[in-house]
Amino acid sequence: SRETAPILKVTNLVKRFGGFHALDGLSFHVASGEILGLVGPNGSGKTTAINVISGLYAPDGGEVVLDGTSIGGVASHKLVHRGINRTFQIPKPFLSLTVRQNIEVALAYGRAAVAPPTMAALLDEYRLTDVADRPAADLNNAQQKMLDLVRALATRPRLLLLDELAAGLNPAELDWIAERIKALAQSGIAIIVVEHLMGFIEHITDRVIVMNAGKEIFEGKLAVAVQVPQVIEVFLGG
Ligand code: ADP
Repeated sequence: SRETAPILKVTNLVKRFGGFHALDGLSFHVASGEILGLVGPNGSGKTTAINVISGLYAPDGGEVVLDGTSIGGVASHKLVHRGINRTFQIPKPFLSLTVRQNIEVALAYGRAAVAPPTMAALLDEYRLTDVADRPAADLNNAQQKMLDLVRALATRPRLLLLDELAAGLNPAELDWIAERIKALAQSGIAIIVVEHLMGFIEHITDRVIVMNAGKEIFEGKLAVAVQVPQVIEVFLGG
């Protein structure tokens, strides 16, 4: 499936905050079934890229094309119906609703054309069965992250954007979530991962885009990236 045409193509993307260019001509693509890593020093524009692609911010320039259709500036709730969903660095569940209710909302909200996964399967697969009837506010960090992921999956995404999903997880949880993410890609979902843990990135991604100052400075395997002087420089100089 890695030979298929890209599901998402980003071309010359620009996002400004005041006079500052957080994205300054970013271009890349991702295919169905692929896990693409976005890496780079703090402030290089990784989260902004996720925010623009997921419709949280409209781009100031360039194109975002999903399956041949331009989606730049389309609001995030509409993009969910077209098959783009994401997780957040800081998950934002409905805190007073139970885990199960949070997932019910997402299931009801998802792509109508695709059969929803079952509640039981989601709870079981992401280790939330024991806390299913507790308010989301009661969850620990790892459980909050899993609920955020499950809420995204409940909407049946074709493109899933994971913003620091692994941050704060322990080694056993990291291994387990790495396998889950790989299984999601195997099922045909295109996945973009922003993560600071390089070992984790190397383990799960097919390819990375290294960003600096809002644009790509390298595209390829992480193992190759870490030998490129310009890449080493931006990480050390960060
Ligand atoms: P990264 O995820 O690579 O650490 P970000 O995309 O979060 O980088 O940020 C890129 C730059 O854009 C940073 O300098 C950040 O301060 C700035 N930035 C991000 N979001 C906003 C915003 N909503 N308003 C103003 N500046 C922002």
